[in-house]
Amino acid sequence: MRKMKKWFTVGLIFVLAAALMAGCGKSETTSGSSDDPIQQIKDKGKVVVGVKYDTYLFGYKDPKTGKVEGFDIDIAKAISKKIFGDKVKVELKEVTSKTRIPMLQNGDVDMVVATMTITPDRKKVVDFSDVYFDAGQSLLVKKGSKIHSVKDLKKGTKVLTVKGATSGDNVKKAAPDTQVLEFENYQEAFTALKSGKGDALTTDNSILYGMAAQDPDYQVVGGTFTNEPYGIAMKKGNTKLVKAVNKALKELKDSGEYDKIKNKWIKE
Ligand code: GLU
Repeated sequence: MRKMKKWFTVGLIFVLAAALMAGCGKSETTSGSSDDPIQQIKDKGKVVVGVKYDTYLFGYKDPKTGKVEGFDIDIAKAISKKIFGDKVKVELKEVTSKTRIPMLQNGDVDMVVATMTITPDRKKVVDFSDVYFDAGQSLLVKKGSKIHSVKDLKKGTKVLTVKGATSGDNVKKAAPDTQVLEFENYQEAFTALKSGKGDALTTDNSILYGMAAQDPDYQVVGGTFTNEPYGIAMKKGNTKLVKAVNKALKELKDSGEYDKIKNKWIKE
């Protein structure tokens, strides 16, 4: 009986090893076009790009026209055209600061172009392109406010931002005594500021200038207190796509197309 059991175990190991070897062989022969992220996108006929809908001037869905527009959108379209040509459609999908990493990991989007800072923590879970824009964190207040810089955020002041952004942690470090309230997206946070739920709104200056352009009663104050270099995020390990995006970015910069896009949306 014991002998039989032994032979059964040996047999089982043999069968498993054979199955494993067959599996390896299979993946070797099927690698090639289907493992190539660029070819996969070409085969789909579309590249799905995660962009903001709540960030005026960078990625914003105009409630009047329904159009999604901004600096990030134009960068995404220009890069896609360089890598995939005209036949591949750019499908824009809404992400927020909170949802963009999970959506990338789930495969809901192929890349994220959404005011996203390259940080060491994020680099552990996604891959980034080279820097394509330099922002820095600042404050937005109502004109006439007593808050002029991050130094004025003391005990008793309330500062608003969004979930999933670097901004919350940054402001807690820069002003440890202030109270931080986090919202789902930037338009909600801005509405909260306007209705008096906070004394200031904090995030990247690039985003805050967009809000000040939407409502002239508000202004950006105090300069920047962090560096926020933006990168295009892709699924971890997608090296081929990252290389193609970097090449496209360089070409856009060298040809002057990048500056044209920047000047269209961002006024100094
Ligand atoms: N750039 C910062 C970040 O990536 C703030 C802007 C945003 O929330 O997208 O967290």
